[in-house]
Amino acid sequence: MIELRTPAEIEAMRPAGRFVAETLATLRDETAVGTNLLAIDRRAHDLIRRAGAESCYIDYHPSFGARPFGKVICTSVNDAVLHGLPFDYALRDGDLVSLDFAVAVDGWVADSAISFVVGTPRDEDLALIDTTQRALDAAIAAAVVGNRIGDISHTIAGIAHADGYEINTDFGGHGVGRVMHGDPHVPNDGKAGRGYPLRAGLVLALEPWFLQTTDELVTDPDGWTLRSADGSRGAHSEHTIAITDDGPIVLTDRSFLGVD
Ligand code: MG
Repeated sequence: MIELRTPAEIEAMRPAGRFVAETLATLRDETAVGTNLLAIDRRAHDLIRRAGAESCYIDYHPSFGARPFGKVICTSVNDAVLHGLPFDYALRDGDLVSLDFAVAVDGWVADSAISFVVGTPRDEDLALIDTTQRALDAAIAAAVVGNRIGDISHTIAGIAHADGYEINTDFGGHGVGRVMHGDPHVPNDGKAGRGYPLRAGLVLALEPWFLQTTDELVTDPDGWTLRSADGSRGAHSEHTIAITDDGPIVLTDRSFLGVD
């Protein structure tokens, strides 16, 4: 069921968005060559406790997960792109890291993801990250009353294809509200002008993610982490946005922190 939020409810979602934005910016700042993925999770857990927020991940146990997630952040490194379960691994020079983080504050969820490189980046990794960010920016710009879900999907895919990346539509964007995953699904590929019409009050997580040279995923033996089938790297950019009559509001925007 698709739920529309009142302007007052959208205002009530801002603290969750702000906390997710601040946390991702902090974690990115603190993550470097040598940082252990378990330390990132512990730090995120500490920030959640201090803020009185509630993790959406720790007890998360959907049909595709082997067991409850048990951590508060997804840390996907290199060929891992989604649902990366933090494990005992110290980041190495040039690693491409994606952090995906969702919490509830005051009962409202926000969900956002960033990708970045620690140490010396490879050009092809920076290009991949740049494409996911531009796809997200364009998707947000397409999230306006009068468009449809398919316009967002088509926009994301167009940018990926123009840069030579293929799309996997098994996982994509989604409605966000009292729970992390709601209707509608927002595939990262689709037909312009099709699908649910975008209305004021619709709150969505938009999340382009691409792999360098494949559109196939394999599940890691940990039962969660999704890796590229060919070992090529992935990147992921996600924001939670609210569609209004005055245009989209990016609830997880980090620009107020002076960072992208
Ligand atoms: Mg997310």
